[in-house]
Amino acid sequence: MAGLPNLESYLGGRWVAGTGAPALLVNPATEEPLAQIAAGGLDAGAALAHARDVGGPALGKLTFGERAALLRAMSRLIHAHRDELIALAMANGGNTRGDAKFDIDGASGTLAYYADLGDKLGEARVLVDGEGVQLGRSPRLFGAHILAPRAGVAVHVNAFNFPAWGTFEKAACALLAGMPVISKPATATALLAHRMVQLIVEAKILPPGALQLVCGSLGDLLDHLNGQDVLAFTGSGTTGAKLRGTPRLIERNVRVNVEADSLNAAVLGPDVEPGSETWNLFLAEVAKDMTQKTGQKCTAIRRLIVPDAHASAVEEALAERLAAVVVGNPSHDDVTMGPLATAPQLRDTRAGLARLREEADVVAGDDGSVAAPLGAPAGKGFFLGPVLLRARDSAAAQIVHELEVFGPVATLLRYGAGGARAAGALVRRAQGSLVSSLYSDDRVFLTEAVRHAAPFLGRVYVGSAKIVGQTAGPGTVLPQLAHGGPGRAGGGEELGGLRGLYFYMQRTALSGDRALLDAIAGATVAVTR
Ligand code: NAP
Repeated sequence: MAGLPNLESYLGGRWVAGTGAPALLVNPATEEPLAQIAAGGLDAGAALAHARDVGGPALGKLTFGERAALLRAMSRLIHAHRDELIALAMANGGNTRGDAKFDIDGASGTLAYYADLGDKLGEARVLVDGEGVQLGRSPRLFGAHILAPRAGVAVHVNAFNFPAWGTFEKAACALLAGMPVISKPATATALLAHRMVQLIVEAKILPPGALQLVCGSLGDLLDHLNGQDVLAFTGSGTTGAKLRGTPRLIERNVRVNVEADSLNAAVLGPDVEPGSETWNLFLAEVAKDMTQKTGQKCTAIRRLIVPDAHASAVEEALAERLAAVVVGNPSHDDVTMGPLATAPQLRDTRAGLARLREEADVVAGDDGSVAAPLGAPAGKGFFLGPVLLRARDSAAAQIVHELEVFGPVATLLRYGAGGARAAGALVRRAQGSLVSSLYSDDRVFLTEAVRHAAPFLGRVYVGSAKIVGQTAGPGTVLPQLAHGGPGRAGGGEELGGLRGLYFYMQRTALSGDRALLDAIAGATVAVTR
């Protein structure tokens, strides 16, 4: 479309326009076009060579401490441009101001966290993994494991919902580990990631080749990856499975991490009385998760698992909270929930809602229609109000455990006399989730529920009275803790402190004279876990 900015890729040290028919990026509240991306024309071989031959060696010369300084500079730069970036996220992502901060501060915060970790590693160039072991009769013959940066490229493919955080939580780990990055944001919301990379390029923070950006299609890039390269993907399970199955990745044993769909649950313990602190925490965090980023969070609560005795009270209290949500154009100050990010998102969410209604009744929000979204032009925008459903038969319901409806939608399931095991069994039925939360102050219930559900979860959040006022809730991914889940959630793992670097490094066993091993590993690196 004439007059619209074309978002170019940053490849080989310059900005490169794509080819072919462009895709439009729009404001999802007004449908006003904002920018366009011509998807084709990527010279994958040149991009990979630039990363492997220029970026990798440049990063490899640096210590962890020196790479940490790069991360800190990126974090500060993003923070310094926070207002501009918030405006972009609101325009292109349908984010409220709070949603936009969540994404952008998530990016700068994660970079700052990994900068701190890198500072602690200081002069080191490899990590030591775990305790060493004595192998011989005397302590001289010793064994240990080290981790060294892989000598390839980290290819990152990101989802539309966190263009800032998704891009930079991955980049933080890869760059600190010493791997150059080629990052591809989802097309529909690429404006934010594009601008952030533009700022970093203009500020000349990173060595040449350390960070490249693909706006549009990866083309045949995956068909050129080798055994030292890695692919970290975040998005739908369908795309994840497709990329993981790329023949070249299988043939070359390219390391792949998939962060995919997730049907996260929130369990209310039987001990939690209406009106108690833990009860209020549960309600507040469920309502927040359903509406923050218009429910387009991989960690959002989709299934509420509540005791029979309190199910009606939970429904009533949540319906009241959801009724207070003001849906509309995020540029309007009174709006508390924006639109879905794209027209296909709205279509898919509506279709998902219709599927859920096959086995569940709507308790609040009707069909999600919003008669007059505040501040939006009439008939425009991809709006859907929050919808709470209740499974007609909690034991028999299936779709609720299988279909991720990626919007402001959650379904309530009841459990009865079976207690922790019954609740845990419902959590397990999603066949693998990123996170689930248990709201209870009862140690026996919590211990049993965690034991039962943990193999199916990447993270368990325990919501209790003592953490009220301190916690950001289960939907906030923290760099200190691992993020990723088994099965349906993709089987991947990211972040988790130093663990986040391991994907980008090769673990190598060393054996020999202990003094020599110490010298090889570097005296400043202590045990890592
Ligand atoms: P998606 O449609 O699967 O797209 C994800 C990314 O893959 C986009 O960058 C997309 O690019 C790219 N892509 C699609 N087809 C591709 C192909 N054939 N080759 C290479 N790249 C390809 O997912 P989405 O709609 O953006 O994201 C929503 C989903 O992500 C939800 O299911 C959500 O649960 C999940 N998610 C998971 C996490 C997590 O941490 N587990 C975090 C956020 C989101 P284009 O946009 O250019 O098509």
